[in-house]
Amino acid sequence: MWKNWLTASSSSAPEQVEENTRILADPPPLTPEELALLRRAADIVNGSVAIPCTGCSYCINKCPKNIAIPKYFALYNADMQELESKSWTAQTMLYSHFSEQYGKAGECIGCGQCEKMCPQHLPIRQWLKRVSERFEGRV
Ligand code: SF4
Ligand code: SF4
Repeated sequence: MWKNWLTASSSSAPEQVEENTRILADPPPLTPEELALLRRAADIVNGSVAIPCTGCSYCINKCPKNIAIPKYFALYNADMQELESKSWTAQTMLYSHFSEQYGKAGECIGCGQCEKMCPQHLPIRQWLKRVSERFEGRV
C-alpha cells in the first residue's frame, strides 16, 4: 500500500492527489515487513550515534582514576555499530581487558579535570555514564 502511495505521490493528476490526500488522512497500518524495515532503519540511525572523540588523549593525563577515556569511547562507538543487541560483543571483551589495567568508566568521580583538557569540549562525564551502562552490566 505504502509502496503504491510512494509511486503515486510523484504524480500530479487531480485524482491521484485526491487519493494521496485520502490515504494521508487515514493511513493504513504498516505490514509486519514494513515494521521490520522501519526497525532496521532505526537501528542503523541509532547505531550512527557516536562520541565525536578524536582520540588525542589530552584528557587522560589529569584523570585521578586513570580512566582510559579515548579507548572506552572508541569501544562504545564500535559497539553502537552492532545492529542487533547482544549480551556479548568483541568490544565487551576488550572493555573487560582494558578495565583490568585502567579505571572503569563507572569509577569516574566527576571531578571534571578531563573536560577542561578536551579540545572538542565533550561532556566526557556524561558519555562515561553511557559507556558504563553499556559495558559494565555485561562483564
Ligand atoms: S571527571 Fe572522571 S574521567 Fe574525568 S578526570 Fe575526573 S575522574 Fe577522570
Ligand atoms: S581530550 Fe576529548 S577528544 Fe581528546 S581523547 Fe579525550 S575525550 Fe577524546
